[in-house]
Amino acid sequence: MRDPRYDILFTPVQIGPVTAKNRFFQVPHCNGMGHGMPLAHAAMREMKAEGGWAVIATEECEIHPSGDVSPYVEARLWDDRDIPALALMCDKVHAHGALAAVELTHNGPTASNLYSREVLIAPSHQPSKYGYPAQARAMDKSDIADYRRWHRDAALRGMRAGMDIIYVYAGHDLSLAMHFLQRRRNHRTDEYGGSLENRVRLLREVLEDTREAVGHRCGVAIRFATEELIGPGGIERAEAQDIVGMLAELPDLWDVNVAAWYNDSVPSRFAAEGAQEPFIDFVKKTTTKPVVGVGRFTSPDTMVSQIRRGVLDMIGAARPSIADPFLPKKIEEGRIDDIRECIGCNLCVSGDNTITPIRCTQNPTMGEEWRRDWHPETIAPAKSTAKVLVVGGGPAGLEAARALGQRGYEVNLAEARRELGGRVTREARLPGLAEWARVRDWRLGQIRKLQNVAIYQDSPLTAQDVLDFGAEHVVIATGCHWRRDGYGRSNGAAIPGFEGNAAVFTPDDIMDDAVARMPEGPVAIFDDDYFYYGSVVAEALRKHGREVIYLTPDDTIASWSANTLDYRHIQWKMAELGVEQIVSHNIVGYADGALELEHVWSGKRRALDCAAVVAITARVPDDALYRALRDREAEWADAGIRTITCIGDALAPGLIAHAVYAGHRYARELDEPRQGEVPFKRHFHSPRETDLLRIGD
Ligand code: ADP
Ligand code: SF4
Repeated sequence: MRDPRYDILFTPVQIGPVTAKNRFFQVPHCNGMGHGMPLAHAAMREMKAEGGWAVIATEECEIHPSGDVSPYVEARLWDDRDIPALALMCDKVHAHGALAAVELTHNGPTASNLYSREVLIAPSHQPSKYGYPAQARAMDKSDIADYRRWHRDAALRGMRAGMDIIYVYAGHDLSLAMHFLQRRRNHRTDEYGGSLENRVRLLREVLEDTREAVGHRCGVAIRFATEELIGPGGIERAEAQDIVGMLAELPDLWDVNVAAWYNDSVPSRFAAEGAQEPFIDFVKKTTTKPVVGVGRFTSPDTMVSQIRRGVLDMIGAARPSIADPFLPKKIEEGRIDDIRECIGCNLCVSGDNTITPIRCTQNPTMGEEWRRDWHPETIAPAKSTAKVLVVGGGPAGLEAARALGQRGYEVNLAEARRELGGRVTREARLPGLAEWARVRDWRLGQIRKLQNVAIYQDSPLTAQDVLDFGAEHVVIATGCHWRRDGYGRSNGAAIPGFEGNAAVFTPDDIMDDAVARMPEGPVAIFDDDYFYYGSVVAEALRKHGREVIYLTPDDTIASWSANTLDYRHIQWKMAELGVEQIVSHNIVGYADGALELEHVWSGKRRALDCAAVVAITARVPDDALYRALRDREAEWADAGIRTITCIGDALAPGLIAHAVYAGHRYARELDEPRQGEVPFKRHFHSPRETDLLRIGD
């Protein structure tokens, strides 16, 4: 059972009129499902409640059409017709003894109103934040009164939905209550602008309104950004200290963090567990109310230390609760080894940014709770006594073996190399990616507890080996490798001068410590991939003192990394390391130590001297074994083989998350009936307007 040193994590916390049963608090987090997929959203939140979190919050919740954040899909309480979707979540959360919380917000100039077509509003006239070609207008006194009324009405609707905690949101630079605090957004000369007291006025009023409306039944929480890290134009710690001092006892709970989102949910590449402490540690000294904060906490010892040292009262988590919805239960039951620790890759964030349901590298069931009935901890027992052979011990093979083993199948996994983990082990050696090894470590830890899964290292299998093995089902998860010829998004054929050129390297070479054998002189990184590899390879090369030119046909480096909140950190890192950038240039040839570059828009050519090139363009599946077995399909029956399935990077190279998901899905679907062409549930709108009205009423 539970280690007594973690007892403190399981003591209740009073939040105004409600009591949280323990100190685990799932803070608001976006999920790409929101009001658009209420059943999927509610099931995802329910899983956290089942997993032991005492408080489960929504993502940000729009209170009015003039604060419409489309195309992003968040929660919504515009009018009473939005209540049922959130009531569903409350019912599911309450069924497990947890409290439900809703984070009310009006995004002001950080909304879009692309759907509602309302005019944006802000403390003062200003451009909209996200580059929409429209400005927000300055709010007059009647707008302020309207905003307070919308917020109050939404709080009442939240209470009617069954919410136990109502948030006033002043964080992430995403809410009017915060925009009025910021000198750069608030140029008013009335009692809502100028002095700090004036800039705090609206936040104070909204807190008072909320307490007056729902405080008898609901805890009133504030989410407050203590630092924006942009200097005096933004909230800074000194001013935040004054603000917390002015409002100290007004809310029932302080939820504090750093703004904007990219400074809050920092990828593990750029911030360690507990990194926000220096920015928020003053809050508990300023208020007697409970304080919750985040820091990608996955270690119970760190959590206890936060509480014992008086930094936090409650352990806030978004990502750790996504990677492991059962984290509190596992600590409670003394199963620390079973915690599936977040790796800080931020793929979960990309769901919100790409407006698609949330996904997690570590937890392949995230977002699948309702539509596929996938549970992160349980899985259907095996439907047969079939023996399964898994070839390849990367994330796809390890997850397939683990989940098949959990189902009860007899599983054998053969890995060619001595080391397990495939690309995860290799990539985790690159600068900043060490935590990614948790993908391997959690799976190996789980597999070691299973008697029915055997792992063979140093075991490269041939097609004959597979036929001789005597398994009914074979999973080929043999991975992929990087191309060396330059073919990729920008070049439909090999780049002249790349093939057979000893000065052309790939990320695989960098992972194999090739830097030491690169010729002396500047190295060009050719990034036609647009995610993390380019900047990670640049860091690896700079570590060895190499001069680096980061070259890409795209108009900016690492463009896809904006979806995972890496982008700004990558830019800052490249600047810090002195990495030169050449964007919007393709390579048309490489000869005599010089690349011939072509500007993608003007077509203008220029030469770039470099001693070596790292080509990050495309990958090739390592599927030779699979193809050899397919060629010998006639022999399968005699060998007792019923199916051979290729999964993960060996089928189509992708992210680690794709490989884990592929392994998990294979295990779930083995011996199960096919679900048809659409193997998951979907949300449908009724085509009949009368039905919609009935649902709405
Ligand atoms: P994925 O991301 O799909 O899991 P990885 O590249 O991470 O793919 O892992 C593939 C693993 O398969 C590597 O560790 C590789 O050494 C191993 N492998 C490749 N071919 C064979 C083979 N013929 N027999 C056994 N293991 C293999
Ligand atoms: Fe953590 Fe990555 Fe999962 Fe997000 S996607 S919760 S960062 S492991």
